[in-house]
Amino acid sequence: MMFCENRALREKMYEAYVTRASERGPDAGQFDNGPLMVKILTLRAELASLLGYAHYAEYALEGRMATSAEEVSTFLQKLADCAKAAAQEELDALCAFAQSAYGESDLKAWDIAFYSEKQKQSLYAFSDEEIRPYFPLPRVLEGLFYVTEKLFGVKVAQAKGEHLWHKDVQFFELLNDDGSVRGCFYLDLFARAHKRGGAWMADCIGRRRLASGDIQNPAAFLTCNFIPPVGDKPSLLTHDDVVTLFHEFGHGLHHLLTQVEEPSVAGINGVPWDAVELPSQFMENWCWESEALNKISGHVETGQPLPADLLGRMRGARNFQSAMQMLRQVEFSIFDMAVHEHGAITSPADIQRVLDEVRQKVAVLKAPEFNRFQNSFSHIFAGGYAAGYYSYKWAEVLSADAFGRFEEDGIFDEKSGRAFLSEVLETGGVNEPLANFVAFRGREPSIDALLRHSGLSA
Ligand SMILES: [Zn+2]
Repeated sequence: MMFCENRALREKMYEAYVTRASERGPDAGQFDNGPLMVKILTLRAELASLLGYAHYAEYALEGRMATSAEEVSTFLQKLADCAKAAAQEELDALCAFAQSAYGESDLKAWDIAFYSEKQKQSLYAFSDEEIRPYFPLPRVLEGLFYVTEKLFGVKVAQAKGEHLWHKDVQFFELLNDDGSVRGCFYLDLFARAHKRGGAWMADCIGRRRLASGDIQNPAAFLTCNFIPPVGDKPSLLTHDDVVTLFHEFGHGLHHLLTQVEEPSVAGINGVPWDAVELPSQFMENWCWESEALNKISGHVETGQPLPADLLGRMRGARNFQSAMQMLRQVEFSIFDMAVHEHGAITSPADIQRVLDEVRQKVAVLKAPEFNRFQNSFSHIFAGGYAAGYYSYKWAEVLSADAFGRFEEDGIFDEKSGRAFLSEVLETGGVNEPLANFVAFRGREPSIDALLRHSGLSA
């Protein structure tokens, strides 16, 4: 959809894609999820009502950081209000670009990705191949460990691990100031045959006080699927890879640096899942700061850090159409909440009506009448995100605002780093995450930092 020059084919593809598993489009009625969605929503409403909740959204929010459906709705509406005017401007700019550069004056839904890609290339063109040489893996790890030590005062040192399951696997220890071991982790970073794809942190063992009185140190697995080294050349990462590594390492630090001795609330255990992405998304910020990139990057041949001009283009591309993207995520989130607060869905048409109302209020891009996005919205119908899709944006607000303190005091400010360590990373699921956040930031979270990072502040 981004690169296909054939407009008729794009239209065909678009229609087939957005009508998947519905009563419309080329496979109309063959795999229609409509009746199943009604059944799922009805059963969820019944479950919530049996347990004494007003609706499923209220039930799902039990034990989350967000305290009520109203709080989530207000939050989402605020983001929508902040993004809508900017999104309209982005859309106008796209239309103007398509008109002036390609003489296309009537953009349809199947043209958006195509001309957006062309506009993005004309503004910020760069390729992954241009970036890879600046991120040899050994240099990136060095930088990651440098950031960790600066912020949290713990050293990372390679050690001789036992039970390594493959020659690619490396073993590291986290060390306190006095050299004592605080935790350890296994790095398994390269793609290989029969290995599961993706990137994740998994807890191997958690911190706990044993019956003997001793402390069991935590251990973690950090898994990625980067391109392996070739010959004596190191693995060269894309910037996305670097961000992924920092993200998963943030989860790892949350698990490994905890001071809690009770396993069920140590590390990431017992942390509500709309707050658990805070440390991981928080760590990503250092991948975008030149002061940190001087440590994280270094050209494989010259050792030069990532050039300022290239970083500038990467940042521009990162915020390209950020208001439209935010609005889209907010539209999905509001729909998710609305459909789970409804309580009286009796037909697929009811679901469509809820979505139409949300789009009417929020969207700047009008979806064609046949669009059945909801029929393949598997996050909320097949996954665990029912009345929880908002949590992506929720966690982004927390991590952006937490990083805001470092923007104010310096990205390697020791005092702020140690405060994040003691108030967020060490506390596990013992306290309410809001209390942790307030203890760290000195106030409740604000959406300003996320808006600023997305290039949206007024
Ligand atoms: Zn994560």
